[in-house]
Amino acid sequence: MLDLTYELPKPKVISGAKHDWELVIGLEVHAQVSSNAKLFSGASTKFGAEPNSNVSFVDAAMPGMLPVINEYCVEQAVRTGLGLKAEINLWSAFDRKNYFYPDLPQGYQISQLYHPIVGEGEVLVELGDGTARNVRVERIHMEQDAGKSIHDMDPNMSFVDLNRTGVCLMEIVSRPDIRGPEEAAAYIAKLRQIMRYLGTCDGNMQNGNLRADVNVSVCRVGQYEKYQETQDFSHLGTRCEIKNMNSMRFIQQAIEVEARRQIAIIEAGGEVDQETRLYDPDKGETRTMRSKEEAHDYRYFPDPDLLPLEIEQAWVDDIAANLPELPDAKKSRFVTDFGLSDYDASVLTADVESAAYFEAVAEGRNGKLAANWVINELFGRLKADEKDIANCPVTPAQLGGVVELISAETISGKIAKDLFEIVYTEGGDPAQIVEERGMKQVTDTGAIEAALDQIIADNPAQVEKAKQNPKLAGWFVGQVMKATGGKANPKAVNELVAKKLG
Ligand code: ADP
Ligand code: MG
Repeated sequence: MLDLTYELPKPKVISGAKHDWELVIGLEVHAQVSSNAKLFSGASTKFGAEPNSNVSFVDAAMPGMLPVINEYCVEQAVRTGLGLKAEINLWSAFDRKNYFYPDLPQGYQISQLYHPIVGEGEVLVELGDGTARNVRVERIHMEQDAGKSIHDMDPNMSFVDLNRTGVCLMEIVSRPDIRGPEEAAAYIAKLRQIMRYLGTCDGNMQNGNLRADVNVSVCRVGQYEKYQETQDFSHLGTRCEIKNMNSMRFIQQAIEVEARRQIAIIEAGGEVDQETRLYDPDKGETRTMRSKEEAHDYRYFPDPDLLPLEIEQAWVDDIAANLPELPDAKKSRFVTDFGLSDYDASVLTADVESAAYFEAVAEGRNGKLAANWVINELFGRLKADEKDIANCPVTPAQLGGVVELISAETISGKIAKDLFEIVYTEGGDPAQIVEERGMKQVTDTGAIEAALDQIIADNPAQVEKAKQNPKLAGWFVGQVMKATGGKANPKAVNELVAKKLG
């Protein structure tokens, strides 16, 4: 359930010429299931293979070929459903959705219209400003992906690549609970994060492994509350569906552009036609692709080649028992166990690899300090180097070593940065490096005092000024640090300076 410490995000409001309008958005996300083989054939799903090299007779729809369901894909869909706290339907069925495009040679797509494998679930969508909304998921069904028609390789011919034909997709359908472009992007990002944790979809949008159909409508302020109370869609405006988007940036742009288009139509006295549209990022506009098709246009019927899909509760329970810790749970554990801020915990749990790295650094050490070093120093350094955590040159044990030396006040924060750079570029054991290169912090007040006395003796004018204006004491701290090669314990220096000049 929604953690009530969150405030609800405000819906995006766009002012038209006459009225203020709120946005209502529902997303149909297509996520390619991570699986080596396709949904109904043994052909490989490997991305980037030679065109038409991953095509079985089933995918090519040769006469007499029969689909055989891939149990692993079913398991992945169930796992995804469980990750979204959704109902799992032990009985589901496949339907034929009839349409003809050359990229799906069967002449129909096998999908689940009437009885999807996953029912109602939810996704907690957090925005950067500390607000959050629970977006309801209506269903997840499994279906086949289509291949790719290529029209720009030859002036007279079209080509088709069937490698993707028959690959398993999960269509994750949200309720129209999303109230602005940012929320839409945050919702997709959260879905992607959860699926990556689960290992059910790699979320690679560039390769088209995660894409969304974006439904947008607008309504006058106050109408959405009426929908919420009654779940009656007649309180909402007519929606348009923007097809097949695989960029977060374009999704946000398209939502805004489409909402403004609808507002202009309504305010001019017209009506929005329910239709399917495409976003053109170059022109910054959406345009009609086709008028809205209805279920009956597809002549759906139960696929006679496939038995209904029956799964056992014990199997589902077993998958549930083996789910990994998911982002929300991990994040709140990081907050309680390591005393992290909400923000730091979010950054560290963005992906499983970073989270595991951090935990290994923090275990048995100062958690907050570890978080600082992972987020600010390590991530910053990796970013500058265009590396990620998977090919990070510093092991958690090494970074943990640096953190320990700071905690034990063996080195100062400033020296720690130099040490980190050495470990990052040259490797080695931090404690040993500190020892060998004489980087230990000077906490011996005698040595610090001697250095300070010398500086005081050499700079009588500065001493006079500092006595008038205590802010100038900082200059003496800086001089002592310089005289000790940055190794003096800053706390001890500050205390001594205050004592002598105070
Ligand atoms: P269809 O099967 O005709 O596409 P669905 O009921 O499956 O219709 O809805 C598709 C998507 O459109 C869902 O994500 C749903 O939340 C969203 N949706 C429905 N009504 C609206 C609306 N008025 N404004 C925005 N999105 C909507
Ligand atoms: Mg739909």
